[in-house]
Amino acid sequence: MILITGGAGYIGAHVAVEWMDRGEDVLILDNLCNSERSAIERISTLAGRPPGFVYGDVRNRRLLDTLLRDYPIDAVVHCAGLKAVGESVREPLRYYDTNVGGSVVLCQAMAQAGVFRLVFSSSATVYGDCTRMPISETCTTGQPTNPYGMSKLMCENVMKSVAGSDPRWSIGLLRYFNPIGAHASGLLGEAPTSTPNNLLPYLLQVASGERQALSVYGRDYPTPDGTGVRDYIHVVDLAQGHTCALDALRERRGISVWNLGTGRGYSVLEVINAFEKVTGVPIPMTFEPRRPGDIACCWADPRKSLEELGWQARHSLESMLTDAWRWQCNQHRHEKIRQAN
Ligand code: NAD
Ligand code: UDP
Repeated sequence: MILITGGAGYIGAHVAVEWMDRGEDVLILDNLCNSERSAIERISTLAGRPPGFVYGDVRNRRLLDTLLRDYPIDAVVHCAGLKAVGESVREPLRYYDTNVGGSVVLCQAMAQAGVFRLVFSSSATVYGDCTRMPISETCTTGQPTNPYGMSKLMCENVMKSVAGSDPRWSIGLLRYFNPIGAHASGLLGEAPTSTPNNLLPYLLQVASGERQALSVYGRDYPTPDGTGVRDYIHVVDLAQGHTCALDALRERRGISVWNLGTGRGYSVLEVINAFEKVTGVPIPMTFEPRRPGDIACCWADPRKSLEELGWQARHSLESMLTDAWRWQCNQHRHEKIRQAN
């Protein structure tokens, strides 16, 4: 059985479904601060049986000790954390407490329980403003421009030290590029609770009429069309990267770092055009100045993940956008039914 912290959230829920699809068991620990209990029901529907679910906080050491004692957990996927960049600037201590503090407490509880296999949700943000593309795992980590990014880098450093302190640890740091998309069933996807900061969730809300226009931040970047380029990866591909990492960590010790990206970058305008093409929905947009802290380009060199995990992303940008739009339309439908009742 694996424990997934933050397993009711966008990425953790997809990891849960992937793992359960293999006939394995999952226990989810989540305090639902950025997700809903209904995610657990949706995971049950997709997997054909319910995952274990415990409502609670990953910083609660006593709770972790109990879970690690009472359930046959042999690995942990640590997704629980806060991820809104702007909020992290306003509330840095909450971010360090949850992201770094939560990771420290989790590692302490795991060590005491004798569970040494850990997969961590890291981010390409740890590379900072790396200018050499594509970015491979050997690129030095940079100076993240906000407390969120800094907290991810600090977590990585904590885990590196922990792995160096005891040879029984096998820890995989998964550096996500830009996860988008949704489960093809339309049952699982990203459900932002406040104004989205990321491109896709915002674009989806414009497409469904919840917001008037998409702001395109910067058209003077040194990129082919002047807008920022990112490596968008389908969340189901990303989730499969976790199952491959869990498998690989059985045979490895110490720390391993893997990029989870496609190896191909798309500009903001390319994403908008592709979305309009696959859905037929026009996206009103305005051009705005660059967003502070943004970099021009960021895409992965995914070869190490292919060589060491046998993993590679398979979904096209079109399929990511189609799945994301299906999810958005379903959400909208549910919301209307809820309001009508
Ligand atoms: P999410 O907010 O949808 O999921 C995170 C989950 O963790 C939520 O269900 C939330 O309720 C839970 N959580 C938060 N604090 C908790 C706590 N103290 N105790 C227990 N549960 C807690 O976010 P996501 O997109 O699924 O991201 C998962 C992880 O991946 C995060 O650590 C995030 O930083 C990282 N990440 C995400 C992206 C992205 O673009 N989505 C990119 C890189 C890295
Ligand atoms: N972006 C944009 N409008 C938005 C949100 C994002 O033009 O409303 C751009 C942003 O400047 C970047 C790209 O879209 O070039 C991806 O941004 P996102 O916040 O999704 O990911 P990140 O910058 O964290 O990689």
